[in-house]
Amino acid sequence: MVFVISGCGNNAKTSGGASSTPAGSPAASTAPSTAKPAGGASVLDEIKSRGKLVVGVKYDTKLFGLKNPTGGEVEGFDVDIAKALAKEILGDEKKIELKEVTSKTRIPMLDNKEIDMIVATMTITEERKKQVEFSDVYFKAGQSLLVKKGSPIKSIADIKKGTKVLAVKGSTSVKNIKEKAPDATVLEFDNYQDAFSALKAGQGETLTTDNAILYGMMAQDKNFEVVGEPFTDEPYGIAMKKGETTLQTAVNDALKKLQSNGEYKKIYEKWIGQAPSK
Ligand code: GLU
Repeated sequence: MVFVISGCGNNAKTSGGASSTPAGSPAASTAPSTAKPAGGASVLDEIKSRGKLVVGVKYDTKLFGLKNPTGGEVEGFDVDIAKALAKEILGDEKKIELKEVTSKTRIPMLDNKEIDMIVATMTITEERKKQVEFSDVYFKAGQSLLVKKGSPIKSIADIKKGTKVLAVKGSTSVKNIKEKAPDATVLEFDNYQDAFSALKAGQGETLTTDNAILYGMMAQDKNFEVVGEPFTDEPYGIAMKKGETTLQTAVNDALKKLQSNGEYKKIYEKWIGQAPSK
C-alpha cells in the first residue's frame, strides 16, 4: 500500500503566514498576516451563526467523494473528513451541506462564497497558496498512470510522442504530465468519470492523476490497473478562502483532534485500507 497517513500538523509551512493582501498592493507592507478582508464577519462566524458547514466535495471520485447512483448519497474519505470537521466545529456531523465541485470549479466556488471550504483531493501547491489558505496536510498521494491490463505502457518512460494521455481540467495532473512527459498528447476532461469513460472507450492509452484516485477506478473496473511508481508528491490540504486564518486555525485544530482521538485512522481504514493495491 503506497498511502501514508500524514501526521496532521507536520506541515507548518502551509498554514498561516500568507498575507491576505495581494503582494505589491499599497497595503501589502502594513497588513498583518492574519488580516481579514475588509467588511463582514469571518467565515467561521458565519458557519457558527448559520449552524451549518458548507463543503465542496467531489461527486465523481470513488474512495474520496462519489455520488452513489442508486441512493444518491455522496460517500468517501473526503466526505467523512468533512463530516468529522462539522462535528468538531459545530458539534454535529449532520450540520453539513455538501456541494459538488470539480477540479476546475472548486476555487471559483470558494471565491464566490458558494462553499466554506474544499475537501476534494486537492494538492497543496505554491501557486494555489497564492489563491487560498490551506490546512495542514491530511493525506499524501502521488501521481501515477492507469492503463488497460496488458498495455505496453508500464511506466511514464513508455509515454512516447503521440501517446494520448487523459487527464482532468484544473488538476495538477495536467501540468505535471506535460512537464514529465512533454511528448504526450494530453486530452482534458471535465471530471474523472468522463476521463475514465474515455479510457474505457479507447480514446487514449492511459489516464493520469493521483494514485489514490486511480485505485478507486481500478476498484470500479478490474480490466484496468495502475502501473509504475508515483512520479510526483501530492499532499492534500483543505482549502479555505484567502485571508480566513481563523477558520484555518479551527480546521487545523480539528484535524489534530481527529488524529489524536483515532477518528482519522478509522476513516482512513474505512476508505483507503480497503483500496486495491498493486
Ligand atoms: N490532487 C490533484 C489536484 O489537486 C489531482 C486530483 C484532482 O484533480 O483533484 O489537482
